[in-house]
Amino acid sequence: MSKKINVVVWNEFRHEKTSEKVKAIYPDGLHAVIKSFLDTNEDMEVTLAALDDPDQGLPDELLEKTDVLLWWGHMAHGDVDDELVKKIQSRVYLGKMGFIALHSGHHSKPFKAIVGTNGNLSWGRNQKEIMWNMMPQHPIAAGIPDHFLIEEEELYCEPFYIPQPDALVFGAWYEDGYIFRSGACFLRGAGKVFYFQPGHESCRSFYNPYVQKIITNAVRWAVPGDLGYEIPDKCPHILTKATDEFND
Ligand code: ZN
Repeated sequence: MSKKINVVVWNEFRHEKTSEKVKAIYPDGLHAVIKSFLDTNEDMEVTLAALDDPDQGLPDELLEKTDVLLWWGHMAHGDVDDELVKKIQSRVYLGKMGFIALHSGHHSKPFKAIVGTNGNLSWGRNQKEIMWNMMPQHPIAAGIPDHFLIEEEELYCEPFYIPQPDALVFGAWYEDGYIFRSGACFLRGAGKVFYFQPGHESCRSFYNPYVQKIITNAVRWAVPGDLGYEIPDKCPHILTKATDEFND
């Protein structure tokens, strides 16, 4: 078998320690549930990382071998070290790592640094959501029906201040009538980025089999290296003339 995909699931991991309601749903942290379903795939090697771990969970040795980084943060976005954010952004741009922002990761420093907007959106009460598969031909939508129901999610709705996505794979409709671009792909430099909306800490979305399938597909899609080009990490200084080849 070819090399496994090195996946890191990074979680702020604060709500699960401070809220009894959240702890009851995700006793070991929501990242542990994500790891548990990704672990069923033989092509993935999954590591957990959390904000309060040494080096905020991402020491250089780990980051440098990470193929795909998943990111869930909410109450402590501001605590994430700016130097770490730069390293993550650089790895994505250089095509060394894919990045997947989950739910409130829309406001995380790495997501905003990578896509380039403030990620603001409108939000409201938890309610039923219908997830629409708008690009069934996309690899992230493989095995997903044309729509499915999420029993309870936090309302996230438009306008969502993201750049125009390179592919919009999923769109949401909520019980109160609002809509949202729920699953969006971005190409940045030589790296691939996916934003996926479900995953509020007091909801059970990470146990939903379709949500699990989409995140699994997104990990495989985000693996770097198959865009067919590389981005240099510095600006080459030209000392020759391109026209010399015509003068021989
Ligand atoms: Zn939330």
